Amino acid sequence: MPCNIPAAHNVHSVVPRRITLSSDSESSTLSRRKFLGASSAVVAAAAGLGTAQAQQPKKSGEELVRTPDHHLPSEAEPSGKNARLDDQNTNSVWPPATDAGGQPPFKYSFSLAHKRMETGGWTRQVTVRDLAISKKMAGVQMRLISGGVRELHWHVGAEWALMLYGSARITAVDQEGRSHISDVNKGDLWIFPGGIPHSIQGLGEDGCEFLLVFDDGNFNEFETFLLTDWLAHTPPDILAKNFNVPAETFAKVPPRELFIFARDLPRPLAEEQKQAEAGTGRVPNSFDFRPGQMKPTKVSKGGEVRIIDKKNWPATSIAAAIVTLKPGGLRELHWHPNEDEWQYYVTGKGRMTVFSAGGHARTMDFQEGDVGYIERSMPHYIENTGDADLVFIEVFPTPFYEDVSLAEWLAHTPTRLVNQHIATGEDFLTKIDKKEAVIAPQ
Ligand code: MN
Ligand code: MN
Repeated sequence: MPCNIPAAHNVHSVVPRRITLSSDSESSTLSRRKFLGASSAVVAAAAGLGTAQAQQPKKSGEELVRTPDHHLPSEAEPSGKNARLDDQNTNSVWPPATDAGGQPPFKYSFSLAHKRMETGGWTRQVTVRDLAISKKMAGVQMRLISGGVRELHWHVGAEWALMLYGSARITAVDQEGRSHISDVNKGDLWIFPGGIPHSIQGLGEDGCEFLLVFDDGNFNEFETFLLTDWLAHTPPDILAKNFNVPAETFAKVPPRELFIFARDLPRPLAEEQKQAEAGTGRVPNSFDFRPGQMKPTKVSKGGEVRIIDKKNWPATSIAAAIVTLKPGGLRELHWHPNEDEWQYYVTGKGRMTVFSAGGHARTMDFQEGDVGYIERSMPHYIENTGDADLVFIEVFPTPFYEDVSLAEWLAHTPTRLVNQHIATGEDFLTKIDKKEAVIAPQ
């Protein structure tokens, strides 16, 4: 679709909406009384306008006209442009009339990230150094060929993962020496708590590709604590003393990090689990989770959502929602009171508007491989603007998922009070579902 905005929206005026006095008879009477013979400041106050705004000259005849095909001279882009990028970002090139003010970008594409190529696969990352507002979370894409190993390593932050393609074997050891070894497939998740050492190895015919999310915006996949790197920077006589073996034992430790490298496939799963669990057993709460085996948290006509947090996955310190929106489906207007949201668009096309206090609103388009970021308590929606399903994930650096929806808020606030604000009529308000929809239409 070249343009996602319905034509009716394009011809909307962007001049401030007319301010009308409340239809409530008491306040109208009050306003009228004050209007008679009152100073302009009092009039402005009665109409709910700031004095400065009220004193601005009228801009009659200055209404902005927008056309669906952008043919007006005021809309033209006569110099060169990047047509392919513009087509992917129609809501930036032709913003909805409701967008206003500046707002830092909340989108970054993995397509723009530097790709580190290795014999066993590749990796690239989107961090706060790329997307300035993503202060609390960062993401990594990684490809491992069959047998390709992401070296044994750890890092300060926790690692949450979604398998996007193929399968892998993951290994980890917790602070009590208990192990986790399992094989994960497309759609599966894993969590490696901060400081817990782990590895990932591609399996099967063609290995895997996966997404990692870290609860640290400044995370750097290229600078983690690596087994080979550490041993190469430890005196051999210390290694010998540590394990009570001759120093020659470590003669073949690689002088440089392996990071991602190609090796033979692992031994059968049960055999490796038995070996690793000897003496200590396995971690009490599994580090992997299979969303395909859970009942969706919410299903509606517009799509479905699976919420996975510490309530149904005790090992995790990172909450997530996996959302599928059918064509035209809407992830309803909402916000998250407890944390920032990091998004990844797995497949399909959509748009999101983020509203920020002070009248700022910005709409951006998203598609496969895009990262989105919404700061805590900033309201937003996501609409499927394509003709196929839109699948995206919402990730939060907190153990428990929380949201407040516009509909939920209005449904549980006195209808008279809400109507006094938005003048929809109380009939509409009483009919809003008392239970949160999550996805529209229901
Ligand atoms: Mn890791
Ligand atoms: Mn959200």
